[in-house]
Amino acid sequence: MSIQDLWFDPSLCFIGGGWVDPASGQTLDLIDPSNGELICQVARGDADDIDQAVSAAQAALGGPWGRMTAAERGRVLAKIGQLVQSNAEVLARLEALDVGKPLTQARADVAALARYLEFYGGAADKLHGQTIPYLDGYTVYTLREPHGVTGHIIPWNYPMQIIGRSVGAALAMGNAAVLKPAEEACLTALAFADLARQAGLPEGVLNVVTGLGAEAGAALSGHAGVNHVSFTGSVGVGKLVQRQASENIVPVTLELGGKSPQLVFDDADIDAALPFLVNAGVQNAGQTCSASSRILVQRGVFDEVLDRMAARYGDLQVGPALQDLDVGPLISARQKKTVENFLSQGASLEKAAEGQIIADAPAGGHYVAPTLFAGVSPNHVLAQDEIFGPVQVVIPFDDEAEALSIANGTKFGLVASVWSSNGARQMRLAKALRSGQVFLNNYGAGGGVELPFGGTGQSGHGREKGFEALYGFSTLKTVAALHG
Ligand code: NAP
Ligand code: MG
Repeated sequence: MSIQDLWFDPSLCFIGGGWVDPASGQTLDLIDPSNGELICQVARGDADDIDQAVSAAQAALGGPWGRMTAAERGRVLAKIGQLVQSNAEVLARLEALDVGKPLTQARADVAALARYLEFYGGAADKLHGQTIPYLDGYTVYTLREPHGVTGHIIPWNYPMQIIGRSVGAALAMGNAAVLKPAEEACLTALAFADLARQAGLPEGVLNVVTGLGAEAGAALSGHAGVNHVSFTGSVGVGKLVQRQASENIVPVTLELGGKSPQLVFDDADIDAALPFLVNAGVQNAGQTCSASSRILVQRGVFDEVLDRMAARYGDLQVGPALQDLDVGPLISARQKKTVENFLSQGASLEKAAEGQIIADAPAGGHYVAPTLFAGVSPNHVLAQDEIFGPVQVVIPFDDEAEALSIANGTKFGLVASVWSSNGARQMRLAKALRSGQVFLNNYGAGGGVELPFGGTGQSGHGREKGFEALYGFSTLKTVAALHG
């Protein structure tokens, strides 16, 4: 995939079913994380473009989209999913180029996007209202309705997957969407908008405005014409978005960060656990909200687990996305600096192992060697803060109570896993872990689109993915008829 092969102009916004110049006439540089070079320019959309996009979405709700049956909406989503599949390799290469993720991982993201569209396309006509037994002479029922215009602000780490889970569910429920992708990776969002157009999504139902968070993002989260905001990103910006949306009293879904633990007990199947212990920390160079950055290991197997994890780290190869090694670059020079700053705070810790940056990795790429720290105190900054890089800490524990207290001992609560052959322990911990998802003898469950996802604590609130997302992307009306 070369940028010259793009079939759309990335320096434009997609509004009202067509490609338009940003109101400012300005662009932003999009950088290739694998070599630090310019990929292309993208539109610097701002409040004026967001205004246009919201108006286009409002108009779409009053047009053919608003009159479509749920089954018809579902068919349009399924058709977009088919176009995603038939353009899978192009999309994967675009995502790998833009995000810096190894091609195999980018291909998995395309497959996930297609699957979201299949799932939400099929689900569009499956969410029903209820009839409610009430006083004599009344008939009462509920109607599931779209919020109206939904705003979607997404990060750079998994653009396609997050578009699938949030825009997919919102459109299934009949909303019209305005999407603000991250300034550092927005090409697949633009490509997706064009595939949706080709699939027959009516104009204005999906609008994409690229630009800066403080400009386009802030304008979207605070826009009086937006009826629901879905935000995926950092805790700090999540707070701002929630505050801005509160001016308009609209619901907000916040999918924020994590410090997700895996708990490995003496009675665990360590052979089964090992690939998950490491992969969950280094996938996407650790830039995954549900990355497992803390590995808690019972003392009886601590040395064995640490040695075997260290051996795997020794084999990790880091290099350009399109060389498709184990780990790619970080998204930006800024992110690299952030991660290096965390690594320097671990200077006094025992470094158990490091991966290898390949010798001919381009000097301008944002590479960091994956790093494993051993025997880290649960209160150390590396065991508390989200690093968002390929860094894991291994923490010893004595018993179940201590493991639980360490696991629950951060401000986050996104996902957690328990590796143990003791069924009673699995059940106890599944209940006691403060976490949006708990995995027993696995990690991530293959990322299934069917599985509701979201956080507790500062990992956020609201649920996306699965059928559950359809409740969040719709509102309920109660109708009470007095007929005697
Ligand atoms: P971020 O800085 O919060 O950015 C996320 C999005 O918000 C981007 O589109 C950004 O635009 C926009 N934004 C920035 N400032 C804004 C403002 N004032 N108002 C409205 N929007 C604004 O996060 P990030 O650094 O890109 O992503 C990393 C974080 O996301 C991590 O903490 C990670 O855990 C979290 N994350 C969570 C999930 C999840 O599902 N829970 C998934 C992925 C990532 P710009 O690109 O222009 O800054
Ligand atoms: Mg980029």
